[in-house]
Amino acid sequence: MTTTLAVANQKGGVAKTTSVASIGAALAELGQRVLLVDLDPQACLTFSLGIDPEDLEVSVHHVLTKGTDPREVIIETEDGVHLLPATIELARAEADLLTRTGREHVVKMVVEDVEDDYDWVLLDCPPSLGVLTVAALTAARGVLIPLQCETLSHRGVGQLLDTVHDVRRFTNRKLEVWGVLPTLYDGRTNHSRTVLETIAETYELEVVEPPIPKTIKFAEAPAAGRSILATSRTSKGAQAYREVAANLVTRAGRKKR
Ligand code: ADP
Ligand code: MG
Repeated sequence: MTTTLAVANQKGGVAKTTSVASIGAALAELGQRVLLVDLDPQACLTFSLGIDPEDLEVSVHHVLTKGTDPREVIIETEDGVHLLPATIELARAEADLLTRTGREHVVKMVVEDVEDDYDWVLLDCPPSLGVLTVAALTAARGVLIPLQCETLSHRGVGQLLDTVHDVRRFTNRKLEVWGVLPTLYDGRTNHSRTVLETIAETYELEVVEPPIPKTIKFAEAPAAGRSILATSRTSKGAQAYREVAANLVTRAGRKKR
């Protein structure tokens, strides 16, 4: 059975895209077949996996709005994962889909088309709670919420959970919150720990372990077109994402039985 996870948080810069690329590469290392879907018009995931969106003639936009076969668009990346890439054209998808019946289900339809080929589908959501994020949550079995533990401004989490609640009511009753993934984590400071504990308690959320340490190595990976697992194999950041991936595999297995 395929496990589809949405990685969502309407706040930008919390490491959604970094987490999708790194967890994807880590799952591939574990022998899992992985599809990553770039649902952000900024196409950062696509770019960070070594693909220039400007070189693409078809992208996830065509799949979502024009019915193009996803297999014609999916690309194999050097990190051992497959990618359904985005381009800036996706910015139009929100508007194009807004008047369409069934728009919440467009991502789900795509996932169902290809899921026999994959053990995992990871959806990289844009920094908003618009049509694309709702469609991702509608397609997903679980949602992971990356959260940077630098600031106390986590009010957005409540809004995201309201959206999750609506999605459960209207389009995907089975959606589970798999928890918050602490990112940009500086374990040396009490501040990071306090932020994390406050959030987990306030919203009664599980914390996906281990926290991803803040390290400069992450800045170098996207420019190389590879995830940190390739550019900095033994770094603490890469190691943390490997542990997260292993824990996700365990969790997916546990839930299956
Ligand atoms: P989002 O997709 O939520 O907007 P990104 O994954 O694009 O966030 O990350 C935002 C920035 O933070 C990027 O420049 C990325 O390289 C950097 N970053 C991500 N994770 C870490 C980390 N653990 N330590 C240091 N920098 C990080
Ligand atoms: Mg992003």
